[in-house]
Amino acid sequence: MPATQTQPRPATTPGLADARSLLSRVWGHGDFRGLQSEVVAEVLAGRDVLAVLPTGGGKSVCYQIPAILRPGLGLVVSPLIALMTDQVEALKQQGVAAARLDSGVSLDERSAIWAAARSGALDLLYVSPEGLAAGAMMDRLAELPLSLIAIDEAHCVSQWGHDFRPDYRNLGLLAERFPHVPRIAVTATADARTRDDILRSLRLEGARVFVDSFARPNLQLSAERKESASRARTDARVIELVRERRGKSGVVYCGSRDGCERVAQALRDAGTDAIAYHAGMDTKERDRRLERFLAEDGAVMVATIAFGMGVDKADVRFVIHADPPGSLEAYWQEIGRGGRDGEPAEGITLYGPSDIAWTLRRLDGRPMAEEVKQVQVRKARQLFAMLDGAVCRAQAVRRYFGETDAAPCGVCDICGDPPQTYDATVPAQKALAAVQRLGGRFGRGRVIDHLTSRTKDVQPWEQQLSTWGIGADVSPNGWRDIIDHLLFEGLLVEDPNDGKPLVGLGDPEAVRAVYKAERKIEVRRLPVRASSSGRRDRSGEGRNAALETMDADVRARFEALRAWRRERASEQHVP
Ligand code: ADP
Ligand code: MG
Ligand code: ZN
Repeated sequence: MPATQTQPRPATTPGLADARSLLSRVWGHGDFRGLQSEVVAEVLAGRDVLAVLPTGGGKSVCYQIPAILRPGLGLVVSPLIALMTDQVEALKQQGVAAARLDSGVSLDERSAIWAAARSGALDLLYVSPEGLAAGAMMDRLAELPLSLIAIDEAHCVSQWGHDFRPDYRNLGLLAERFPHVPRIAVTATADARTRDDILRSLRLEGARVFVDSFARPNLQLSAERKESASRARTDARVIELVRERRGKSGVVYCGSRDGCERVAQALRDAGTDAIAYHAGMDTKERDRRLERFLAEDGAVMVATIAFGMGVDKADVRFVIHADPPGSLEAYWQEIGRGGRDGEPAEGITLYGPSDIAWTLRRLDGRPMAEEVKQVQVRKARQLFAMLDGAVCRAQAVRRYFGETDAAPCGVCDICGDPPQTYDATVPAQKALAAVQRLGGRFGRGRVIDHLTSRTKDVQPWEQQLSTWGIGADVSPNGWRDIIDHLLFEGLLVEDPNDGKPLVGLGDPEAVRAVYKAERKIEVRRLPVRASSSGRRDRSGEGRNAALETMDADVRARFEALRAWRRERASEQHVP
């Protein structure tokens, strides 16, 4: 049943002052932050809005407050039952009349909720996109005065996004059915293309678009190339990373259910409170595990992407990708689950050339339009280019989201220990030429043998190629770095359908640009491979130094912020 107490409605058109007072009385927050006030003002005025605000940025109040202040029922479309339950329970506890209609609600409860809605006693009604698509619900809603329609996690409508939900596609109908009801779509992750797609699909063409900065200064990002494609090696590295963070709460993302179980077991064997979580478990079991994670201090969730949206544990101190995600959007959203309390948190991504092949193989098997697939492939490549690049991580992510003026963060692994790069355009030309001459018949290692003329079982035809031995001036390890980088940049591709993948040429346009030296290839100079432990120590040093400076900085900022909030709060409690 919906809660009983409703908020008093002002007689005149509600404005920002009313919104602020509601924010402090019901939510206990001193003031709006970031773009919240602008978004709220726009929605209060009855105009359509798309708001892209960071995870934890407070998107919910952007629609909850106007829904309460405007006359009528506020309809909220939310993709997950867990998300709906959390929000509705929280609202009820705050004295807001909210209810949800999802598959878990009994028939009796349903009719009670509709009765409350008809009598005007309900401020907010949460529904699933499937429920809404059923049609009958739209008809019932059409009989009610609606204050607004909010579409949470709006990126789910876009196939370019990483959480596509087919049922979200039907939400465009809302524009037709409720032409006079203002609609607000909110999401944390959407690049320019996804934003356009959201506007088009939801028929929000006239909406004002607010995009907050994607900066998350308390997140410290880093990426490490996997030392080999061996799963055992990667698992060992993950265990090492988690051990170094013993007692802290974290999330480890794995690319498969098997991997998830395996890493969780290995972590438990190593004495960590690790919980596996993936879509192979039934909902009850998943909920139990989620509750344990939320309740236990220092628990580590080892999960597939099934674990995500709506998880709101404030003190997640690290997010480790044992396998990289599929795009920069997914990367940012997953890493963004760390440090929601504003305290420092780390995002560490392990990646290797075999992960690209794996990502492409997975995309290949998906039933989707060729055009969509191409976009996803490009997005995956952009992520790998960032991971293997030499640009500040945060800056690279923010540029991707359209923040062209983002400054280096000062705390990521790149900022903390700027890698040396060298101009590898000429070696890259040689490698591309060799792959071309070899006609995609060889794998990575064998291409290197060809370049360095080291192979024993060379055939006469191979020796006659102009590329035989042209790379003898670079060591095999040097070649490995260059070829890996060309794979990360998409200039070379490994056939994803092959257990021992063959290397072929990538995007012809890009390859031509490298041949003509119009595109320069910068490769990071990695420390000598033989002393792999030395390599870690080195980057570790830089990182710790960076972390210390950040800690002081971020802590100071948050202390100031807290003091300010305390001050504001006490001011407001003076009668
Ligand atoms: P998201 O944007 O990820 O959906 P939520 O709406 O779940 O974020 O809000 C995250 C947290 O931030 C909540 O605990 C919420 O109460 C809090 N919050 C929202 N607005 C403010 C504000 N103006 N000041 C302080 N805290 C806020
Ligand atoms: Mg949210
Ligand atoms: Zn940086």
